[in-house]
Amino acid sequence: MNTFKNYKKGDLIFDAHELGQCAYINDSGQVEIFIEEDHSETQIAILEKGEIFGEMAIIDGAERSASARAYSDCRLTEVSPDQLSERIDRSDPIVRLLLSVLLKRVRLGLQHPEEPQKTPIPFAEENPELNLDNPTPLDKIRIESSLSEALDTGSLIPYYQPLVNFNTEDIAGFEALIRWRHPKNGMISPALFMGIAEETSLIIPIGRWVVKQACRQFRELKTKLLQQGHSPEYIETLFMSVNVSGRQLEDEEFFDILDQETAAHQHKPENIKLEITERILVDEGKAKSWVNHCRSKGYKVALDDFGTGYSSLQYLTSLSVDNIKLDRSFVKEIQDNSKAEVIVKAIIQMSKGIESSITAEGIETPAEAQVLTRLGCHYGQGYHFCRPQPISEIINLFSELKKSLNKTAA
Ligand code: C2E
Ligand code: CA
Ligand code: CA
Repeated sequence: MNTFKNYKKGDLIFDAHELGQCAYINDSGQVEIFIEEDHSETQIAILEKGEIFGEMAIIDGAERSASARAYSDCRLTEVSPDQLSERIDRSDPIVRLLLSVLLKRVRLGLQHPEEPQKTPIPFAEENPELNLDNPTPLDKIRIESSLSEALDTGSLIPYYQPLVNFNTEDIAGFEALIRWRHPKNGMISPALFMGIAEETSLIIPIGRWVVKQACRQFRELKTKLLQQGHSPEYIETLFMSVNVSGRQLEDEEFFDILDQETAAHQHKPENIKLEITERILVDEGKAKSWVNHCRSKGYKVALDDFGTGYSSLQYLTSLSVDNIKLDRSFVKEIQDNSKAEVIVKAIIQMSKGIESSITAEGIETPAEAQVLTRLGCHYGQGYHFCRPQPISEIINLFSELKKSLNKTAA
């Protein structure tokens, strides 16, 4: 609870070097902030009504760096450490970092007012190799800047992973999966940088770029497959999946770009699939209208990472999707854990009931593929069939892969 205190002109409010118990808001009157050196006082500031002071010692837990005294009769509201720390703890890590850097500078300036400040600016550090595994807030800023540069300099590369149709034992389509070729870190997985792109608005230009690349390279692939002698009817059934993250739902230009690219490269909207994760459905209203809009335009929608992100299945009663992607965590368990098989079977049944096809992600062994086929799963994706590859590789290995799938069937 806030407490109010009245001070008479000349009363000491706090002394330099003591540990702070609270900060203050000046409700009325004036407060003088001063430092004392060699028995002489230097006034730093006169604070008017409405100003907060004494907060530094509360934020960083260090001693008061200056003293405060009532410059006239005044009334102050005391602000407890919890009231400040709760708010600071909830703020963005970068904002917290900036706050601590600024506090250090202010304190240095108070100790040595005459000296120019020499504290190094952390942003100026040269460290071209990115720390992606356990990034600090500053690392994240560096990653964000490098990622933005990568987008401009062509260091982002779309890879594609085939999806297999278990019924026809054939390649059914592809999922576009972004990679980042970094001069020092090598090829970086999206698992390490897409989170940062999603924390910032960088996901918007990256998402648009992926749509453009995927549509363009999907056309390139189809043209090459025709030249290789694959039937036009079959090629027309292939689909391309693009991942869409939560923040992209707010991108007002997303559908304009998607429509434009789909038309420019002569794809049918029904052959373009957008993958959203279950987590997006936390904001159910917004996600639902996005999905409905998408499907009304003829695009397909897949629910990615199914079974991991959302506790309630209630949303499926009012949301229609074309495909459900069963998360790899289920596939991994399916052989050694009989309960996993029961659950997967139930999910496959459920998906059929709501007229949605189902894809199993992360199939790594022939045995996993067999169990999933037996359980009635429609599509499979995983290293067992093919790892994600650049489009040139997909073009080269397409016929081989198609043949090997047929052989497994025979
Ligand atoms: P995701 O959408 O669930 O993609 C499937 C991930 O599983 C991919 O990881 C893929 O390489 C990996 N994978 C495929 N088969 C196997 C397998 O048999 N075993 C194992 N262990 N992994 C397999 P990747 O490429 O590292 O992508 C990670 C995530 O990054 C994706 O997960 C997706 O959420 C995100 N992502 C990738 N590209 C994009 C993009 O263009 N836009 C957005 N918004 N997110 C993307
Ligand atoms: Ca996906
Ligand atoms: Ca997934």
